[in-house]
Amino acid sequence: MAKVVFLGLGVMGYPMAGHIATAGHNVVVYNRTTAKAERWVAEHGGSYAVTPADAVANADFVFSCVGDDPDVLAVALGDDGAIATMKPGAIYVDNSTVSADVASRLYAAGKACSIGVLDAPVSGGQAGAENGALTVMVGGDQAVFDAALPIMECYGTRVVRMGDYGKGQLAKMCNQICIAGLVQGLSEALNFAIAADLDTDALLEAISGGAAQSWQMVNRGHTMVKNEFDFGFAVDWMRKDLRICLEEAARHDAQLPVTKIVAGYYDELSHMGHGRNDTSSLIRRLRGS
Ligand code: NAP
Repeated sequence: MAKVVFLGLGVMGYPMAGHIATAGHNVVVYNRTTAKAERWVAEHGGSYAVTPADAVANADFVFSCVGDDPDVLAVALGDDGAIATMKPGAIYVDNSTVSADVASRLYAAGKACSIGVLDAPVSGGQAGAENGALTVMVGGDQAVFDAALPIMECYGTRVVRMGDYGKGQLAKMCNQICIAGLVQGLSEALNFAIAADLDTDALLEAISGGAAQSWQMVNRGHTMVKNEFDFGFAVDWMRKDLRICLEEAARHDAQLPVTKIVAGYYDELSHMGHGRNDTSSLIRRLRGS
């Protein structure tokens, strides 16, 4: 069994690290707020460290799932960061959603220390992380991917290598571009249904079997109608993701007109105080509450 370190025990990292431990690997965790690491160890065994550098000395694999670009740079390359302390030949897998530029900086830093690096953002939300059923989009060298695949399969049911470093993050951007327009469309349909006094249970039963069906409709339709948003993928994380998409699109001169509009809607929601609500809360904007 491998020696695995997991950095970042948030909504996603906590259960992902748990699945790696359940598979029998020897797991050391690090979390900025140590109380969460203590709780994780009480639940899953293993041990915790108080800095990324302390955690990684003997690791075969180091995973991170933190937040935005500066957060990944801090845990991987900061003063107490992981990569400079890892042993040569070890592998660093970043599961955060960040820019392709960060993926390339990590890859270059890894190369300089003989560390394999994969950018491996995930999709499937909190439920996917808790059920060990995430989709993982991976960029990096084939041999490094092959070595890390058995560990990524502890939390991912669909683990796809997209190509060289950075390509995992680019694939995740496509995922978020799809979701942005889709959730706005679903919000408009449900808001319309409520205004027109349609039976929304019957509506969702009917249209979730047809061409309008989506993961968002099946998993979020009923909760959107009930005004329940206290779970899932936070609005402020989506703002970060769409900012990354728009910046990358500008580099390629690719048009993202709908994504740009929806990014503005998520800004509004955040300013309304709903930044930690699930992304399906876009419907709140239409209701004005
Ligand atoms: P979260 O619940 O807010 O947790 C973030 C984690 O990162 C926490 O453990 C936090 O530590 C740590 N962290 C943040 N900044 C840090 C820093 N500068 N140094 C050290 N640790 C830091 O976030 P999440 O929902 O798990 O998301 C994590 C990543 O996965 C993000 O990139 C997100 O976009 C992506 N993602 C999320 C979902 C989802 O449904 N939630 C789905 C797909 C992808 P503390 O506990 O100390 O705050």
